[in-house]
Amino acid sequence: MVTTHNLGFPRIGKHRELKFALEKYWSNAISQDELLQTANALRKQHWQNQDKLDWAPVGDFSFYDQVLDMSFLLGNVPERAKILSGNELDSYFRIARGRAFADESDCSCIQAGEMTKWFDTNYHYIVPEFNQNTRFELKAQHLLAQIKQAQKQGIKAKPVIIGPVTYLWLGKSKDETNKLDLLDSLVKVYVQLFDELAKLGIEWIQVDEPILVTELEADWRVAFRKTYDTLANKSIKLLLASYFGALQDNLSLACGLPVDGLHIDAINAKDEVQLVIDSLPNDKVLSLGVINGRNIWKTDLSATLLWLEPIHQQLQDRLWLAPSCSLLHVPVDLDSEQELEVEIKSWLGFAVQKLEELDILAQALNQGQATVTKEIASNIDAIYTRKYSSLVHNSEVKERLAKANDELGNRQSDYKSRAKLQSEKFNLPLYPTTTIGSFPQTLEIRQARRDYKSGALSQTNYIQVMQTEIKRCVQAQEELGLDVLVHGEPERNDMVEYFGQQLSGYAFSQFGWVQSYGSRCVKPPIIFGDIFRPKPMTLDWITYAQSLTNKPMKGMLTGPVTMLNWSFVRDDQPRSTTCLQLSLAIRDEVLDLEKADINIIQIDEAALREGLPLRKSQWRDYLDWAIKAYRISANSVRDETQIHTHMCYSEFNDIIESIAQMDADVITIETSRSDMVLLDIFDEFDYPNEIGPGVYDIHSPNIPSVASMVKLIQKAAQRIPDKRLWVNPDCGLKTRHWSEVNLALTNMVLASEQLRKGFL
Ligand code: GLN
Ligand code: ZN
Repeated sequence: MVTTHNLGFPRIGKHRELKFALEKYWSNAISQDELLQTANALRKQHWQNQDKLDWAPVGDFSFYDQVLDMSFLLGNVPERAKILSGNELDSYFRIARGRAFADESDCSCIQAGEMTKWFDTNYHYIVPEFNQNTRFELKAQHLLAQIKQAQKQGIKAKPVIIGPVTYLWLGKSKDETNKLDLLDSLVKVYVQLFDELAKLGIEWIQVDEPILVTELEADWRVAFRKTYDTLANKSIKLLLASYFGALQDNLSLACGLPVDGLHIDAINAKDEVQLVIDSLPNDKVLSLGVINGRNIWKTDLSATLLWLEPIHQQLQDRLWLAPSCSLLHVPVDLDSEQELEVEIKSWLGFAVQKLEELDILAQALNQGQATVTKEIASNIDAIYTRKYSSLVHNSEVKERLAKANDELGNRQSDYKSRAKLQSEKFNLPLYPTTTIGSFPQTLEIRQARRDYKSGALSQTNYIQVMQTEIKRCVQAQEELGLDVLVHGEPERNDMVEYFGQQLSGYAFSQFGWVQSYGSRCVKPPIIFGDIFRPKPMTLDWITYAQSLTNKPMKGMLTGPVTMLNWSFVRDDQPRSTTCLQLSLAIRDEVLDLEKADINIIQIDEAALREGLPLRKSQWRDYLDWAIKAYRISANSVRDETQIHTHMCYSEFNDIIESIAQMDADVITIETSRSDMVLLDIFDEFDYPNEIGPGVYDIHSPNIPSVASMVKLIQKAAQRIPDKRLWVNPDCGLKTRHWSEVNLALTNMVLASEQLRKGFL
């Protein structure tokens, strides 16, 4: 008999119930009790969704982030959060987002924990902090309570936790402390935790160690052995879970650890499954992640079964089946979708459907395929229609792509010559100020977009509302004294969805939300077919905005790599092919903007970095096609047209040469949360073009002071010539309120003025 389980279920709720409850709690609209009730109800619902599984995950629920939960569980709470009023949940939110409540007095605000991407996903976690005073202490009450809740509901609970080695690896040492020196004391707390779990009758624990799919230094490999030697032989069984890639050089390490089972990602590492089977001692369970937890396509069940049957024969009861990784990265339930084209919908599966597929696979293996003939037949049908559908294939797109060569990505002249022309044309002051594009998405804006979509608002009226908003935004920027303006992006619900909606080859769900960080969710569009742009996508808005001001208006586009990385991508052709199709579509838009006399164009590549493969050995290949795609989209403009690009979380030390190859005239990046240390690279690498290191953190509602921003820019100026520095926030302002934005940008402009004076 094969055993089925799941590594994690999306916690945000089918209709984002958790998001709304959190936001109400933060604005004092509901009590903490009410928030806890929502959490209870969601967990209950999600376990019901998983009741066919042999083992359901517990501990995958989180109010903000599972890594931050782990920090609290381990008693590793930054000192600055401990001294303040309120209870533990309030401290938790302060670390997550700088404050517990929207109206919290300033003295209760603290620096939020650093946030970074979870491996190669678009999920962000709060980075654990370590220093010489770090002490761990078990605080498992919340996890234990959730287990009791699951058990009461009759669920076979398998707690999921982040393993000690990955936990340390994910964190940052805030002083000279070597993280691995903390391992022994950390592992002790895990031992205590396992004892507590055993007392609750827990049989299996899933211990996530996804760093096993990355290149590990020798000391980290040693840490694995030491850790699991200590954790072994407890009265509880450990399922060591790796995902997001292949084990490769860590394969024998992973197979040799004294645990009771190993989970591997059989989607991304299908080729090494046989080797794992051969290497794994035969008293251990092997869990194969055979359903893609990162994508929304139906699994080809008959092909999977064909492949699994001999493996099942060989492993028998030792075979477990699961999705490849936690389903956190896919939406909850396809059944909610009413508007997807029927044919396209028939090709898809979200979390709930993926678990149904898992059940069908297990039933076919355990009871014979005859027991699921109907299900398999309908699956074969879906896989076949998708493969040959005319919705997917467009010969014109394929032909244009075949002709696209690297030449298309070259600017006419080098940066120096361009910069001269541009500086004559724009005549900007030193330390020019700008923003990253979006301004607050007010209730009215969102209401108008909704009404337009539902038909309650006519197109004419919708345009009017948006234009009013653009006008307000342009006026505000003029009053603030910004130098390069933006239209504010009111018409965009999301930077990828907005463009996807206007491109052929894209489909959209209504409720396909996936958590990005905290209460923030994104609804990744679905690239199902060949991409092309039927007509201009941003031209009317941008030219309208430019008509309102004499200052330069920056046209705002999302770049091809970000479009790709933030979409659910087709799995029937290489990602690079899809990316180049996107790049040709964006290129058309860039050229149309330029023709309409928009002379500064920003092409956001917020997600370029997160598309990097987890293993460095595969970076070159990705960067080659990604940078090529970006260049093709951006670089065919005239010399005097200034191209900006923007990147979030730009820890790009290791890819700085590729960033330079993009040859954008200006890049704006995230740096404020890291106190500009991300700029250290400029000591060694002479970045040739202009750069706007974000001077304040837009993820926090705290208002940055003039002095703090002056200081940051001065720090930047130690490494980058003033002439090439821009002053801007570190990302778009859509999630903020106008009251915050006005204060923050007033200070930002003052900071820039102060710097200019200092320079004179
Ligand atoms: N132009 C986008 C905005 O300002 C960029 C967002 C992002 O980088 N994530 O919202
Ligand atoms: Zn950004």
